[in-house]
Amino acid sequence: MLVKEILNNQKLTVSFEFFPPKNESGWDDLFESISKIMPLKPSYVSVTYGAGGTTRNKTHDLVSKLNSETNLCIVAHLTCVNSSRNEVKSIIERYNREGIYNILALRGDLPPGVEDFNKDGTGFSHASELVSFIKEISPETGIGVAGFPEGHPHMPNRLKEIEYLKMKVDAGADYIVSQMFFDNRDFYDFKERCELAGITVPIIAGIMPITSRKGMERMAELAAGARFPASLLKAITRADDEFVRRVGVQWATEQIRDLIDNNVDGIHLYTLNRSRSSVRICESLGLSSYDKLY
Ligand SMILES: Cc1cc2nc3c(=O)[nH]c(=O)nc-3n(C[C@H](O)[C@H](O)[C@H](O)COP(=O)(O)OP(=O)(O)OC[C@H]3O[C@@H](n4cnc5c(N)ncnc54)[C@H](O)[C@@H]3O)c2cc1C
Repeated sequence: MLVKEILNNQKLTVSFEFFPPKNESGWDDLFESISKIMPLKPSYVSVTYGAGGTTRNKTHDLVSKLNSETNLCIVAHLTCVNSSRNEVKSIIERYNREGIYNILALRGDLPPGVEDFNKDGTGFSHASELVSFIKEISPETGIGVAGFPEGHPHMPNRLKEIEYLKMKVDAGADYIVSQMFFDNRDFYDFKERCELAGITVPIIAGIMPITSRKGMERMAELAAGARFPASLLKAITRADDEFVRRVGVQWATEQIRDLIDNNVDGIHLYTLNRSRSSVRICESLGLSSYDKLY
């Protein structure tokens, strides 16, 4: 099923993101996590893609495995930075052959020191071009794209940013998944700016539960620009090491509760391959039975 159909059918989608592990023990942890989220009846799960090229085959292997061995709806992330059109075409064809028709189309982060990576114009400069290309070669594929409530670190012009986001939607994207954010006001403001720009597709809120101080520091690196509200930092600073996870769970739970009260289209949990916090959050909000409640 396409994610756009799921978004149409469910009042609230709840999805989970995983990445392909680098080693054997990582695979065991991953499948343990997936088995724990299965009872929550995820709307879909997504699998990240290494823009640098290191984990590309692993993404495909994990997507295929999940698709053939579970009844989960799978979304494969795909980045286009440093990829030729032929490479992207063969990836999409391979997915389609296996019955996989959901792609999150991304540019990917530029390799360090690289400014212009598509000098000869034969590849892709922006995710909007990837969206158009996928629509051209596989019109039946459903496409999601990334949105940045607090702005993309490389685009200081907040007006242009929404214009570029609209280009992705106009090129054929069915929905937007947001970068993580810790203050819902940033998401509501982003949503309103999208509406003003005429973007009408569903916007799924990306939520990352903080699990440790180290994890928070890594997130600050990965999602450069993410703003940690002072009240969250204060709560984390006050907590003993073993309680940081509980603070993270509580913060994310309150964020999601408020988002639901404000009619968010969907929640996307960045699990980092650990399900404990995500399961806690979903259980305490009754998210596995949400459809039945409304
Ligand atoms: C939900 C989500 C999932 C992600 N998954 C992955 C993953 O699996 N693998 C991975 O490597 N990365 C992933 N990322 C990170 C993402 O690849 C990076 O943040 C990347 O820098 C931006 O990708 P994009 O698709 O938004 O690119 P784009 O939409 O191309 O935007 C990139 C930058 O270019 C600007 N821009 C866009 N169009 C134009 C234009 N026509 N002219 C000038 N400027 C323009 C934008 O404003 C922005 O600053 C994910 C991000 C999110 C939010």
